[in-house]
Amino acid sequence: MINSQTRVTPGEPASFEDAALFHGHVCPGLAFGYRVARRALEECRKGRAEDEELVAVVENDACGIDAIQVVTGCTVGKGNLILHDFGKSVYTFFLRPSGRGVRIAIQQFSTDTLDPGLPALSTKVRDGEATPDEEAEMLRRTRGVVDTLLRIPDDELLDVTQTTVTIPEPARLFTTATCASCGETVAESRARIRDGKIVCIPCAGSYGRGWGKE
Ligand SMILES: [Zn+2]
Ligand SMILES: [Zn+2]
Repeated sequence: MINSQTRVTPGEPASFEDAALFHGHVCPGLAFGYRVARRALEECRKGRAEDEELVAVVENDACGIDAIQVVTGCTVGKGNLILHDFGKSVYTFFLRPSGRGVRIAIQQFSTDTLDPGLPALSTKVRDGEATPDEEAEMLRRTRGVVDTLLRIPDDELLDVTQTTVTIPEPARLFTTATCASCGETVAESRARIRDGKIVCIPCAGSYGRGWGKE
């Protein structure tokens, strides 16, 4: 893996449909992520230096992250999307090397108010208790909620603050070690020591309760 290069070049960003295709379905979470990503691009393109590279730090691992990957080009695989599983709807985007960026938090917003009957219908579909007609209705109404979310003004949906972040080390190639327990290779940066031997995290974890955990 060579380090990512996602430049914030002007041009037409990916559409919501592109994000839905990648994600596999249309859902409110994806719409929120799409809105965040579009705003992030807008903010980060302002007065950027030529060779700045975009990095995303996301604080949840939910549906919206897929829209962020498609629209911003920041991906887990490239190492320019850093995922903190904090369960928060907060997203920070910054440019490397300047560190100039923006923090975007989704405002408290209940999609239930857009279609109060939809959650019950969705549950019915998820539990396999819906008729084909009800399932079609659920998809249609979900699309309605999503269309609304895609149209709401930014200031009713997002809290945006300018920020400058301390740059984390870029993703790099780590040498690998061999786990003394299972015999599989493991990135040296993720290896653990058990009884003086190099082991992988799953093998270290099986050693005992709470042992070897980060
Ligand atoms: Zn989803
Ligand atoms: Zn192992």
